[in-house]
Amino acid sequence: MTRYKVGIVGATGMVGQRFVSMLASHPWFEISVLAASSRSAGKTYEEAIAERWSMPTPMPGSVKNITVLDATAEIARIADSSDFVFSAVDMKKEEIRAFEEHLAKAECPVVSNNSACRSLPDVPMIIPEINPEHMGVIPFQRKRLGTSRGFIAVKSNCSIQSYVPALHPLKDKFGLKNVLVCTYQAISGAGKTFETWQEMVDNIIPHIGGEEKKSEAEPLTIWGKLLDGEIISDNSITITSQCVRVPVIDGHMAAIFASFTKKPDIAEVKNIWRNYSGLPQELSLPSAPKQFLHYFDEENRPQTRLDRELENGMAISLGRLREDSLFDLKFIGLSHNTIRGAAGGAILTAELLCAKGYI
Ligand code: NAP
Repeated sequence: MTRYKVGIVGATGMVGQRFVSMLASHPWFEISVLAASSRSAGKTYEEAIAERWSMPTPMPGSVKNITVLDATAEIARIADSSDFVFSAVDMKKEEIRAFEEHLAKAECPVVSNNSACRSLPDVPMIIPEINPEHMGVIPFQRKRLGTSRGFIAVKSNCSIQSYVPALHPLKDKFGLKNVLVCTYQAISGAGKTFETWQEMVDNIIPHIGGEEKKSEAEPLTIWGKLLDGEIISDNSITITSQCVRVPVIDGHMAAIFASFTKKPDIAEVKNIWRNYSGLPQELSLPSAPKQFLHYFDEENRPQTRLDRELENGMAISLGRLREDSLFDLKFIGLSHNTIRGAAGGAILTAELLCAKGYI
């Protein structure tokens, strides 16, 4: 089995820490580089993290003494020391795009959690169980960048993982038309804990900057088609959303209402969800959940604390499916925002890119 050397850029952040924890025992990927801002550069990973370690398991011993590199100042070193990198940095959008393109042009593939390159039509935004065929745009992107190996692939926004996977297998079969979704998003989605965000204790904040736009537009790109070297969004569907920050550590919940050309039967939908699987399951990728969509018949499930870790945080939990008086259906979805919605989703995407020969 090929082992890949992997860099993590933004390794000290909330998502970066998740990558570090998840990759410590990965069968294909081995951490070779950790990079962050100039504030962390030159320190060992343990020193750079100091009191910030927020994962439920201890920091893996194998990374404690790795010296953190300066992400933007040491691009050539990062590219030379890794077969590809995961990127999860908090910088200005235009700086992130320039940084990720610079890495790709240094022939280092980038699997990114950042939104900076998500709207580029030759950058695939992949949910591995849903649109693996979008990987086909990579040769066109390589042509634009002038690379033979390097490219950027992105993971979609964390909030959409709680409803797009459930709507996807119903979309073509019943003709998805309109979706109304309200998301209830955890504080780790902002890179925070209760210790670092006291304002969130006993509080709800009804605004998450830029989130509603992403929640409405990104699903249409995920459902888009590859045409003449570009991904063309499916604009036949309308999505409206409200995104709210709630006092939960991890786990984004969504309340979804959907209407279709042909009204689906409730029992049939549950059956479709329970039997749905994609390419990661077919290829038995190491991070693929055995069952992608889990439907709970109990009326008080899914719950964030009970269900976010389902299948190592990689499965989507669904419940409360019923008919609606304005739309055809309504239901609840839940996903782990820093696992399936961030590091885990990116790791699964990288496994797919490796399995299909793009990395
Ligand atoms: P975070 O906890 O604030 O971490 C930010 C990381 O970026 C740190 O490693 C930080 O390094 C690094 N950084 C900041 N400025 C930098 C610079 N100028 N050059 C290089 N590195 C720099 O943020 P996060 O929650 O992990 O999110 C990271 C990215 O993933 C964001 O784009 C976010 O939108 C996206 N994302 C987050 C989630 C989630 O659930 N949290 C989900 C999906 C996507 P220092 O420690 O050295 O400052």
